[in-house]
Amino acid sequence: MHLFSNLNKAGFDAEQVSIFLHSLAQKYSFLNYTSLGNSILGKEIPLITLGSGERSLLYVGAHHGMEWVTAVVLCAFLQELCEAMKQAHSLYGYSIPLLLSTHTLALVPMLNPDGVSYQIHGIEPENPLYSRVLTMNGGDHDFSHWQANARGVDLNHNYDAGFWDYKSLELKNGIIQGASTRYSGEAPESEPEVARLCNWIRFQRKLRGVLTLHTQGEEIYYKSAEKAAKGSEAIAKKMAQWSGYRLSEAKGLASYGGLTDWCIQTLGIPSFTLECGKGNNPLPASQAISIYASLRKSLFLFPTLV
Ligand SMILES: [Zn+2]
Repeated sequence: MHLFSNLNKAGFDAEQVSIFLHSLAQKYSFLNYTSLGNSILGKEIPLITLGSGERSLLYVGAHHGMEWVTAVVLCAFLQELCEAMKQAHSLYGYSIPLLLSTHTLALVPMLNPDGVSYQIHGIEPENPLYSRVLTMNGGDHDFSHWQANARGVDLNHNYDAGFWDYKSLELKNGIIQGASTRYSGEAPESEPEVARLCNWIRFQRKLRGVLTLHTQGEEIYYKSAEKAAKGSEAIAKKMAQWSGYRLSEAKGLASYGGLTDWCIQTLGIPSFTLECGKGNNPLPASQAISIYASLRKSLFLFPTLV
C-alpha cells in the first residue's frame, strides 16, 4: 500500500497524519475531516467520520508517544475503507456501502500529537514547557521512550474511571508529578486531549462500541475492574480468533483510568484495547504492515459485532 511504502523510519507524526488525512478528504468526498480540538501545544487532533448509519463506532490510536504505529494502522484502515466504499466493494462478505449506510465510523488516529512529537523529534528550547519537561525526563535529551502528553500526563490514566484509586497506587509507587509515563494528572479529564474526546463521546447517543489501539503484546482487553459490557466477551473472542491475539486482563497500575475503562464503566458499551504487535516500544514503522494484516478483519467487521 502507498502509505506503508512511504513511511518514514523515524516515525509517523501529527504533520504526516494531517497531510495523509487531507489527501484522503480531497480524494473521497464522503469522508468528513473535522477536529476534536487542539493539544496542549496547539496541534490539531483530527477526527474523521464516515457513513450515515444509526449505529456508531469509535476507533482511537496513539494515546502514547511511543505508539504512533497505531496511527499508521488506523490511517491504512481508513484508506482501504474509503477505496472499498468508492468502488462499492465487499470485504469479508459485507458490502462496504451497505455497512456505511447502517453504521457511522469515527476515527481519531492520533490522540496525543505532542507526545508523539517528543518521542520522534525530542524537544526544542522554544517549547514553552522546555525546562519543566526536561526535568521530568530526568534531564535527558533522549525522548525516545516518552509516552505522556506535552506536560507529562499519561493520557490513558486521565479518564474518570477508578482515577482516585489509581492516584493512591501512583503515590505508593512514588509517582508524584509529571513524568514520561504513568502520571495520571491532577484530576480526571484535566488534559485537553482527554477532555475533548470525552465531551465528544458524551454527545454520541448512538455510540455502540469503541476500539482503542496501543502497542504492544498482541493482546485484547475487554474488561475493567473485572467487569465487561454485555456481549463483549463474545466479541473479544471473535477478534482474538481473527487476529491471533490473546484475551487478557489488566493488572496493577495499568488497569485504571483508561479510555476502555471509562467507556465500560460510564457508558456500559463494549470497549476494547488492542495491544498491537510484538517487541519493544517503540515498534518500528516496518511492523505497521504486519499489524494491519493481523487486525484488518477485526477493524472492518467490528461494526457488525456490536
Ligand atoms: Zn499505550
